[in-house]
Amino acid sequence: MRIGIGYDIHPLTQERRLVLGGVDIPFDKGLSGWSDADVLTHAIIDALLGAAALGDIGSHFPPGEASYKDVSSLVLLKRVRDKLKENGWQVSNIDATIVAEQPRLGGFTGQMRQKLSQELGIDIGQVSVKASTSARLGFIGRGEGIAAYAVALIEGISS
Ligand SMILES: [Zn+2]
Repeated sequence: MRIGIGYDIHPLTQERRLVLGGVDIPFDKGLSGWSDADVLTHAIIDALLGAAALGDIGSHFPPGEASYKDVSSLVLLKRVRDKLKENGWQVSNIDATIVAEQPRLGGFTGQMRQKLSQELGIDIGQVSVKASTSARLGFIGRGEGIAAYAVALIEGISS
């Protein structure tokens, strides 16, 4: 068994979709970035790659590459799952926390867990997503961005 940690943050801007864990969240702002800027999925990808010591999201999917422009991060997550499999690993469980002052995300975490677990080919009970705020402190508290933390446990595929 191996454990990995992931962290990501994206700025909130106008005229962008807000996508978290593959779920479109109705909000007047969205996260800016090269892909769909799904900060939660990015943190999970980094936790998975970290657990397998396979580098990080930037080394596998470099920003600036045309094929990743506005790509759904769920597509990248699926590729990471395949990479882990090629290296003899399967996902045991994931725990993640989104830190966002607004919008309130508690009502969406179930859908996020469903999408993420589906993409990873695991049970929804193996994926936890929690929504937290920054208690109005700092740049997240001022609504300038959204951050996400994730840990992942992986285990060797038994033949
Ligand atoms: Zn990111």
